[in-house]
Amino acid sequence: MQRDVTLPAEALPALRATLGAEVGPVVALQALQAAGYRAGEIVHERLAAVLGGDTASVADARFWPALSEFFSERGWGSLDHSRPHPAVGLLSSPDCAEADVAEERRPSCSFTAGILGGVLSRAAGGPIAVLQVACRAAGDDACTFAFGSEATIQTLYEALRVGTDLDSVLRSL
Ligand SMILES: [Zn+2]
Repeated sequence: MQRDVTLPAEALPALRATLGAEVGPVVALQALQAAGYRAGEIVHERLAAVLGGDTASVADARFWPALSEFFSERGWGSLDHSRPHPAVGLLSSPDCAEADVAEERRPSCSFTAGILGGVLSRAAGGPIAVLQVACRAAGDDACTFAFGSEATIQTLYEALRVGTDLDSVLRSL
């Protein structure tokens, strides 16, 4: 049985804040991303049904708009896809529901990042890592999620962590 629920968007930052107060912000974000991944695998089933049952054979020109429409129709926010490097894709959302007021110190849409990881891994038939590289909750203009192989995203993470900007990292890959 397919069953969906609708929650106020405020539930997402409330979940993050409550969980963060219990276990600390970093562990909370990790837990939310892991939970999001599980949800994303189910989201992939829903999306596959919209696309006729098989996402693997769907052309990029159809897949990315369908993904964006799927999320925006459900109030989650739109997702603009780009591929600034052959090994790294970006999904950028100017209106991600998980981003609340800009008061976080780090990208905080971890449940969304997890969902995208679950959807993209299922669509690719293998693990796709997702790293949020910009977030409205941390004062950026949009919430941007980078994705690629686990090794590539780990390299991206290490470079961003020491302060390298995204464009420079992408040029050096
Ligand atoms: Zn965000």
